[in-house]
Amino acid sequence: MSNIKILFAASEAVPFAKTGGLADVAGSLPKALKKAGADIRVVMPKYKGISKSYTEQMQFIGSIYVDLGWRHQYCGILKLEYEDVIFYFLDNEYYFNRDGLYGHYDEAEQFTFFCKSLIEMLPAIDFQPDIIHCNDWQTGVVSLLLDARYKKNSYFKNIKTIYTIHNLKYQGVFPKEILTDLLNVGWEYFTVNGIEFYDQVNFMKAGLAFSDIISTVSKTYAEEIKYDFFGENLSEMVRRRSGDLYGIINGIDFEENNPATDKRLFANYDVDHLDGKSANKRMLQESLGLPVNNDVPVIGIISRLVDQKGFDLIACVFDEILKENVQLVILGSGEAKYEHMFSEAASHHPDKVSSSIKYDAVLAQRIYAGSDMFLMPSLFEPCGLSQLFSLRYGTIPIVRETGGLKDTIQPYNEYTGEGNGFSFTNYNAHEMLHILRKAIYYYHNHDIWNMLVRRGMTLDFSWEKSAKEYMDIYQKMLCK
Ligand code: ADP
Repeated sequence: MSNIKILFAASEAVPFAKTGGLADVAGSLPKALKKAGADIRVVMPKYKGISKSYTEQMQFIGSIYVDLGWRHQYCGILKLEYEDVIFYFLDNEYYFNRDGLYGHYDEAEQFTFFCKSLIEMLPAIDFQPDIIHCNDWQTGVVSLLLDARYKKNSYFKNIKTIYTIHNLKYQGVFPKEILTDLLNVGWEYFTVNGIEFYDQVNFMKAGLAFSDIISTVSKTYAEEIKYDFFGENLSEMVRRRSGDLYGIINGIDFEENNPATDKRLFANYDVDHLDGKSANKRMLQESLGLPVNNDVPVIGIISRLVDQKGFDLIACVFDEILKENVQLVILGSGEAKYEHMFSEAASHHPDKVSSSIKYDAVLAQRIYAGSDMFLMPSLFEPCGLSQLFSLRYGTIPIVRETGGLKDTIQPYNEYTGEGNGFSFTNYNAHEMLHILRKAIYYYHNHDIWNMLVRRGMTLDFSWEKSAKEYMDIYQKMLCK
């Protein structure tokens, strides 16, 4: 069936607002779904940080008022067609005209407003979706609200919901009073099989409980979260819904992330002209104040600096890593302990470590292109996109075998020659160090290394295949 109507709801999307991988997905999957035949539109908040070059092009198409408890709030609806996909931006100065996307004291209110508004805007914009595709906790209560309030109205009655978990760790847990104060739903929803979570409310859990279908971003993570270790205290609910749970690996936007055309790079290159990659390495070293030397492998890290990403493993063997003839290039921000760790390493070893504690989309791209290896020793990783960007730019990933990292990176096998990276199994610092040393060893074998670089660059991690899997699920949902 073509022309399924989908409203894709996300709290961030490239190129408008981004803190992590969700934005990459929300900015590129809809484009692929559109190509696959869906009538898909994206809805997100109109944040203060969205570039003026986009806000100036937005078209005001109407407004509504939304009730949250005793509050009666204005919601402007703006529209922008970007790369063939219609984006709706929900505008409320009080909720979204703020610095940064998350971490405000009233997130429950901000995102309840977002969820209610994206449902209530539909009759106003005359778009009646077959399916609302929700993503992560910020949109977790959409299915609950439909069930509790809106489905009584014939306009909303047949709308189905799919809920995609991009990271089960971030759940949106708030005091239970918001059930009546913001959501305006009855206490019958405050149950073990509903939104209740240790006597609080949990937006992620609501998404898991009330959506028709649940998906997550790799097959391995879909299995892992059924276990307590990865389940973030929700594994029981995940197991309960496992009959409706799918794992679909994320892709990346192959057009936006193409070393042959990417304007953010120092030089462009492709698989048959790798000189440009060496030029990127040289310029990266130079621009970051590292010794310019093509024989020293550059190890890139671009990440939120949080426990999830495995930085305690690096902390544990940092001195040993620094004894190797390598350069480390870090870009990221997050927990103070890791920011300090990398900043200090850079100040003590300026010839070996460069640490940029910030968010910088251009530098990120230059690191993907200018590094030889990319280190991602995650404790858990729902999908991970950085290893995919790395491969696309000819940079060899070194990862821990978990979640999407396990599904996308096959360790180099010296006997068969197969593989596209290096990986280790256990969450163990010396295991990581051993694999890092193995990668360094092969870096100096030019034939093998060049073969890996070329292979990585020719692998297809674009959205086409995964978009088709989503289309199959959408179709199944409509036949249910
Ligand atoms: P997560 O969503 O858990 O943060 P992913 O690997 O799925 O991890 O996606 C992270 C995305 O955010 C990638 O596109 C990566 O390049 C980008 N990113 C992370 N930190 C930074 C940073 N400091 N500056 C620029 N881009 C960053």
